[in-house]
Amino acid sequence: MTDVRRSVPRTDSVLADPRLAAAAESLGAPAVKDVVQRMQELVRSGDLDAAGVADAAVAALPRAATSLRRVINATGVVLHTNLGRAALSEAAAAAVHEAAGYVDVEFDLESGQRAPRGRGTLDALRRAVPDAGDVHVVNNGAAALLLAATVLAQGREIVVSRGELVEIGDGFRLPDLLVSTGARLREVGTTNRTTAADYAAAVGPDTGFVLKVHPSNFRLEGFTSAASVADLAGLGVPLVVDIGSGLLAPHPALPAEPDARTTLRAGAHLVTASGDKLLGGPQSGLLLGDAELINRLRRHPLARALRVDKLTLAALEATVRGPATPTADALGADPARLRARAVAMAKTLCGNGIDAAAVPSGGAVGGGGAPGVVLAGWAVSLPESYAGTLRVGHPAIVGRVERGRCLLDLRCVPPDLDAELIAGVTAAER
Ligand SMILES: *Cc1c(COP(=O)(O)O)cnc(C)c1O
Repeated sequence: MTDVRRSVPRTDSVLADPRLAAAAESLGAPAVKDVVQRMQELVRSGDLDAAGVADAAVAALPRAATSLRRVINATGVVLHTNLGRAALSEAAAAAVHEAAGYVDVEFDLESGQRAPRGRGTLDALRRAVPDAGDVHVVNNGAAALLLAATVLAQGREIVVSRGELVEIGDGFRLPDLLVSTGARLREVGTTNRTTAADYAAAVGPDTGFVLKVHPSNFRLEGFTSAASVADLAGLGVPLVVDIGSGLLAPHPALPAEPDARTTLRAGAHLVTASGDKLLGGPQSGLLLGDAELINRLRRHPLARALRVDKLTLAALEATVRGPATPTADALGADPARLRARAVAMAKTLCGNGIDAAAVPSGGAVGGGGAPGVVLAGWAVSLPESYAGTLRVGHPAIVGRVERGRCLLDLRCVPPDLDAELIAGVTAAER
């Protein structure tokens, strides 16, 4: 015991290794010291030779200062909640990089005076949705609803259909969120049918607003009916519509998904949406609509607690103004092109001695959007045992296991990553 302890190299001398000193510069000294101490522990327990501490520490260094690991999304699910929903465009990623240092987020460089925060982002959204009198941005879709409910309905009633009291995921339920603001829910209609007359009968002096929620993550079929936005716009109280997905204009491939422009034109006073679903931007919540209502929301004390940072503002502006997002590219991916890539990739992998084949594969929008919509695409099919190994690689490759095979669906894999995907599969141990 004493002998082993004496033979454990001192932390200082291990940290003096040039490779570890360089790592301390890029990863931070505490992170490197942590790894060294773990290796010293292994020497004490007899699991590592004292002479090997520095080498072992170098091998065990984290790759980056964040523990988040890059993932190639081969699930075929475009907005995968567990993989961070929308992937940012290169333009948006570059904007985040630009905004990482000091930026003029609240400063007018011409006059040297304070300027409205995030004005470029808000301008971009106003241009993209001219039907909105004004725009405000918060942390996420839930925060947008929270702000609207607090400002417009605290101590009052939100009139909402029983068919639209939804759980958005991970146990979070919109009715709980709304009630947490001190608003009361005035539920109308039934699970499957709610008419405009149901809403009209419930609206009164206590009404804060009428809420319509897009039931984005499930489908109701059969004997159903719902009041339209136009039906509810003239009830004499604000009509707030939670469209969920963040489409600013209609998407040709997703006719059932509501969008901000159409919803505002139909008469909604306020639209709330997420920025990191079909819009393809950073996590954020959009509020678009009547200028006077938006101004009230913006001035409420809670707005400060829900405001977004400069990185989000930068990414959102670049998403709205910039080139097609990875989300749009994945949604619009041409099946023939996906097939050609899958065939070529399977051929290369077979040449590397791997049991691979190109197979048709059904993708999904995901992120709780467009339920039931199957995006016809193509995948490379591998033995199931690949799934686990690929997941823990660098980068991690996450596919889908279906009927005893590991499918790598190419819809959400940008073509310039095909070579990396092939290398990852070839290197994977079964
Ligand atoms: C996703 C969603 C939300 C929540 O938005 P987050 O950005 O996840 O907070 C709220 N309402 C609807 C209809 C949604 O689809």
